[in-house]
Amino acid sequence: MSKLLIVGTVAFDAIETPFGKTDKILGGAATYIALSASQFDVKTGIVSVVGGDFPKEYLKNLNSKNINTDGIEIVEDGKTFFWSGKYHNDLNTRDTLITDLNVLADFNPVVPAEFLDTEFLMLGNLHPAVQMSVIKQIPNRPKLVVLDTMNFWMDNALDQLLEVISKIDVITINDEEARQLSGEYSLVKAAQKIHKMGPKYVVIKKGEHGALLFNDDNVFFAPALPLEEVFDPTGAGDTFAGGFIGHLTKSEDISFENMKRAVISGSNLASFSVEKFGTERMENLTKEDVQKRLLQFKLLTQFDIELA
Ligand code: AMP
Repeated sequence: MSKLLIVGTVAFDAIETPFGKTDKILGGAATYIALSASQFDVKTGIVSVVGGDFPKEYLKNLNSKNINTDGIEIVEDGKTFFWSGKYHNDLNTRDTLITDLNVLADFNPVVPAEFLDTEFLMLGNLHPAVQMSVIKQIPNRPKLVVLDTMNFWMDNALDQLLEVISKIDVITINDEEARQLSGEYSLVKAAQKIHKMGPKYVVIKKGEHGALLFNDDNVFFAPALPLEEVFDPTGAGDTFAGGFIGHLTKSEDISFENMKRAVISGSNLASFSVEKFGTERMENLTKEDVQKRLLQFKLLTQFDIELA
């Protein structure tokens, strides 16, 4: 069984959407990625940090899904990373209201011995210095390194982020962030520029409009499933990334053809994540739910046409 190591925030989130508001609930990039990847029965571990205020039962809950949390440091006298965001009416855009780094501000990650030979590495959203430290701790380069990041780190630690980007295989990023990183409005040109920064594969997430996978001149598009109800898009990007790398870890196949399936898997899982606030839907998701919806994806995208 291949191993998957995930680095990213484990957090408290406070979210406001047109449908309601939550107080501090479980969130964080690594949390969403791991919950999503746990659908694939691979050996998954998280590297992160939380404060003494983080409920131990949240960790136990992750363990019950076969997610190893030995790499989550607990700083007893510190406070957990806190993020708060408010969505606009279209649910595709949001304003970040608060980003309190708290214990993340001086976090020195330690990769647990059991994961030093990980074949798949998911660098989820957090400080690029932490992402780089994890890359450096792994003695033999993993088979595939995937990076997810956001505008916050482009604004606050661009040089360090560019160094990480030069060392990875796949970047997953949303459309606005791809434009910011590349300085190009066209997503095709943006992907070309980002390829030149390092990654052979560029995945551009477009929220409810799906995701694009670029590999030099090859492009693949996966739609997002049209849903009747979207309650909370928080974590959709991370859930997508977890499904993407979970699929690749399980199949141990990193060809472009298989990455297309991985993009569909990611979109499929993300479609569940947005149906409830926070991580609730991902915590209660069954394999049957996932399979049923994969069939919907197939029907949504398949068509026959005769070419003249
Ligand atoms: P997404 O909606 O996929 O962009 O991810 C939202 C999750 O990312 C939330 O659960 C937040 O806790 C987490 N998050 C927000 N801002 C940051 C940041 N600057 N660094 C790391 N994680 C963040």
